[in-house]
Amino acid sequence: MQPAAVRPSIVTVGVALHKALHELELTSPTPRLDAEVLLMHVCGLDRSRLIIHNETVLTGEQEHKLANLLDRRKRGEPIAYLTGTREFWSMELNVTPATLIPRPETELLVEKALAHIPENAAWTIADLGTGSGAIALTLAKELPRCRIIATDSSPAALDVAKSNAEKFGLTNVEWREGNWFTPLAGETLDMIVSNPPYIRADDPHLEQGDVRFEPAAALVSGADGLDAIRHIALHAREYLKPGGWLLFEHGWDQAEAIGALLRRHGYRDMVCHRDLAGHARVTACRR
Ligand code: GLN
Repeated sequence: MQPAAVRPSIVTVGVALHKALHELELTSPTPRLDAEVLLMHVCGLDRSRLIIHNETVLTGEQEHKLANLLDRRKRGEPIAYLTGTREFWSMELNVTPATLIPRPETELLVEKALAHIPENAAWTIADLGTGSGAIALTLAKELPRCRIIATDSSPAALDVAKSNAEKFGLTNVEWREGNWFTPLAGETLDMIVSNPPYIRADDPHLEQGDVRFEPAAALVSGADGLDAIRHIALHAREYLKPGGWLLFEHGWDQAEAIGALLRRHGYRDMVCHRDLAGHARVTACRR
């Protein structure tokens, strides 16, 4: 008779999911979703196959990887940084801790920008502080005849954005390193879009959830959160054609201050757009 060998534990997808859920229950605000997403990531399965392949046994390597990701999640790391991706406008974008994690609110900005651009227009559009490239790449995808110039002060963020351009085969974006308008010298633009940092430096939310792990420079903008927006409003006119559009995202309680600021600088046709929760989150205006 063979001596009884030490059998490796048999962990199926179903068991792993159950265990992961249990582990995350007390630490994550979205334990089931997190458990599913991490397991899909580790096993390379989509959601329906995760359910169908309930009985599939994890390899030792997958088990190890999952345990590591669960530990990191329990310490609060955002799911997007653990999987290295986040979906935006139906594109699975690469993200790293060098970039902000794209948010659904920002899709509102893209939607409103697209609404102002005539079909087949060959506009030149700048995306300031492009991060992972979410806005620039979406515009590039939807407007193949337009030329998009995307700027960011972080070379590490631009590397991520470029990897996304490659991933989706989008070649109509120029990536330029530098602060706000610095890399745009000599350009005349039809539109400027931006999701700038707009959180107040003392906002207690900065101590909670995903934002603790995101780059502060992509989130925080001075005592009232408006430093970057003031800079953009002040200088956008120098780069926009007469009648050119400026659109940017901002905090839910900043619309009034921003409206006054834009009026002071002589912008016209100002419109404020609300997100699904009814908060004013995007302002559009023209030079
Ligand atoms: N443009 C990127 C986004 O919307 C990054 C914005 C930022 O870093 N503030 O996700």
